[in-house]
Amino acid sequence: MLVVAAIAFVTSVPANALLTHEDLATGDLGVAGPRETQRIESVGGVAAAETIRDSYSVSDPAENALANRFTSDGTFVNNPNGTIQWPFKVSVPMSSGFGYRPDQPAGAKPFHSGLDFNPGAGAPIQAIADGTVTSVIESDSGLGVHVTIRHQINGDVIDSVYAHMQFGSVAVSEGQSVKVGDRVGLVGSTGQSTGPHLHFELHPGGGEAVDPFTWLKAHAN
Ligand SMILES: [Zn+2]
Repeated sequence: MLVVAAIAFVTSVPANALLTHEDLATGDLGVAGPRETQRIESVGGVAAAETIRDSYSVSDPAENALANRFTSDGTFVNNPNGTIQWPFKVSVPMSSGFGYRPDQPAGAKPFHSGLDFNPGAGAPIQAIADGTVTSVIESDSGLGVHVTIRHQINGDVIDSVYAHMQFGSVAVSEGQSVKVGDRVGLVGSTGQSTGPHLHFELHPGGGEAVDPFTWLKAHAN
């Protein structure tokens, strides 16, 4: 399964997408710590991302450039008419990427199995493709309020997971069929979270998580 995924990845991702992603992953390791700290101070504000950008300052210009890239819009372009889309209708800031992070928030696992989006509390989250809701969990631990949707994409099963949403904001129910772009819920900070963000995961075949940024760059259309 993993071998097949790796081959598909190599053949379907353009070279420049790989470069972009590599930059992103590297940058994430560098800025995760400071950003997590800032995010705590901006809990609850719809302008959380703006606050982070304005208050973020480091003396190293290279690191500063990476920080700006992470907090500015335009890191991706969502096509509202696509059959596979990003979890937000427009480009929003992203912070922590997929993979190992040395400066993970206290208590979090060193391997980050998803991608974090930071549009601010209350931002509407959308289904990335047509599918069926396989689970809705209202919890205040772990992934918090989270929803899993199973999709069939090019004949293959893939599960998308939307985590840390606000209590009472989930707009779907278990077993429901959804269309791409349908509202899943609202960005919150439930469960193990230091501030409002969407933690988003993708699991091909319902198995091990893959890097959502790489996958979405390759598949969003
Ligand atoms: Zn996360």
